[in-house]
Amino acid sequence: MEMSDLEKIEDQHPELKFYMIDVPNPHYHGHIDGNNVYINENQPELDWLVTALHECVHSDYDYGDLSDGTRFSTKIAERWAIRESRREYNAMLNGKLAN
Ligand SMILES: [Zn+2]
Repeated sequence: MEMSDLEKIEDQHPELKFYMIDVPNPHYHGHIDGNNVYINENQPELDWLVTALHECVHSDYDYGDLSDGTRFSTKIAERWAIRESRREYNAMLNGKLAN
């Protein structure tokens, strides 16, 4: 059976557990807490992928506490995660996963 794109991401990150959760808030996409990645199932499927990749980037590169969005270091980490996840997402749509 062909793996879904989300399964490919899970496959690349065996250290992480992915959970689809029902959060009826259009501004919530997902977050990472330790090794647990939470994805809002109410978002469109493509959004799940971008969110999953985004949280994986945090997992791979960020070790600090990102809960305070006003901190400069958090903004840097967020900007990096958004850029990097977009790059991986584009690579994935072209049929190959980055890294
Ligand atoms: Zn983030």
